[in-house]
Amino acid sequence: MDQPQSEHNEFPPLSFRDFSTAFAHLSDNELRFSFWIFRMMNNTALTNILIALAELGLKWGLPIRWAVKPTVFRVFCGGETIFESLQAVEKLGVNQIGAILDYSVEGQDKEIEFGKTETEIVRIIQLAKENTNIPVSCIKVSGIASNALLEKLSSNKDLNDTEKREAANWNLRFERICQAAFDHDVPIYVDAEESWIQDAIDRIVETMMARYNKDRAIVFQTIQMFRHDRLEYYKNLIARGRREGFKVGMKIVRGAYLDKENLRAKEMGYPTPINPTKQATDDAYNAALELSIENIDWVEICAGTHNEESSMWLTELMAQKGLQNNHPHIYFSQLYGMSDYMSFNLAASGYNVSKYLPYGPVKATLPYLLRRAKENSAIAGQMGKEYSMIVNERKRRSQESFGDLDSGI
Ligand SMILES: Cc1cc2nc3c(=O)[nH]c(=O)nc-3n(C[C@H](O)[C@H](O)[C@H](O)COP(=O)(O)OP(=O)(O)OC[C@H]3O[C@@H](n4cnc5c(N)ncnc54)[C@H](O)[C@@H]3O)c2cc1C
Repeated sequence: MDQPQSEHNEFPPLSFRDFSTAFAHLSDNELRFSFWIFRMMNNTALTNILIALAELGLKWGLPIRWAVKPTVFRVFCGGETIFESLQAVEKLGVNQIGAILDYSVEGQDKEIEFGKTETEIVRIIQLAKENTNIPVSCIKVSGIASNALLEKLSSNKDLNDTEKREAANWNLRFERICQAAFDHDVPIYVDAEESWIQDAIDRIVETMMARYNKDRAIVFQTIQMFRHDRLEYYKNLIARGRREGFKVGMKIVRGAYLDKENLRAKEMGYPTPINPTKQATDDAYNAALELSIENIDWVEICAGTHNEESSMWLTELMAQKGLQNNHPHIYFSQLYGMSDYMSFNLAASGYNVSKYLPYGPVKATLPYLLRRAKENSAIAGQMGKEYSMIVNERKRRSQESFGDLDSGI
């Protein structure tokens, strides 16, 4: 997919089929390694067996680190600690791609663990202040509060005394993190989660936006465009931001947890919050991009997507509005280990690009890794596309070697 030529741009034109740019950061050995991993994941039956084994290992506490760390973990995660992840941060940075260190420890339900997560996120913010290769930070709110509490808060039911204490702790924790982001001038992306806990997240994020986003977007909300109510929500938030004088930071994604959302709605007998078709989600996603560009004086966005059409559509909207590729209010973002052919080509054409770089103890990152595997086998063709891009680059390199040999003889 190639970008139509634009007159007012000093940057090279964008193509998602420029394989040499897309994979320049990988040596032949690294490319071969990625090839084997993606080839394995491209085999749905094998992937399902490995997912089942990993889930059993997780449940029974079996030692699976030895199998996971040198394989899928190496492809999708930066390391087990911030320090271990710095190599990946530097490698992305050399290619003008920012890293969003994502502390991927999930499913916590104890105050002591929430405290550890808070400390870790503040450390990331402090590090980001010193390291230009880390432009922003991010947080999953369920890492600092229990799902049960977030669900109860979202349902507006009365809290008992214990829950009130937990809610107060959670508020303070989140406020301290946002304050640290503000003090260090490092924006923070707040991830979107399941619809039944999202209202509580929306409320606290909006409060923090109103407090910290007076001059620029420090606190970013995330909207999942697979929800049919999110475009309206976004419009209202922009209107409120303009009215009350705070900038809107928005990460725009399509949304994970599709099956989980539909299943719960069916089981509990309420209308699903999810769009009826993939096309409706795609249209809503692109409409959210259009709304963002119309309001680019007031909003700052991160387009978190691996979808080529939407990413290309955003570049076209920018060109139509006469915005430079590196407009400071617009970031393109992908997950580490995925869609490098988009990230590296976007960066080479001067766009602001970042990649979520998950890290954490191998066992703790397993739910994230399993989600990647499941999500990719659920999305028609996605992993096939990753794999075919690598195959193309391997072909290109081997042809280049033959070309060199020919000219040398
Ligand atoms: C940088 C980044 C940050 C992210 N942060 C979050 C986050 O905070 N919260 C979160 O939930 N997800 C997050 N995601 C994941 C994201 O929501 C998507 O699951 C993932 O990126 C796949 O969507 P896509 O736009 O890349 O590509 P595509 O492959 O074009 O779209 C797949 C998506 O389309 C939607 N979809 C598929 N089938 C249907 C259907 N039948 N009906 C309706 N919709 C359908 C689903 O959302 C599915 O995930 C993030 C992704 C990235 C790259």
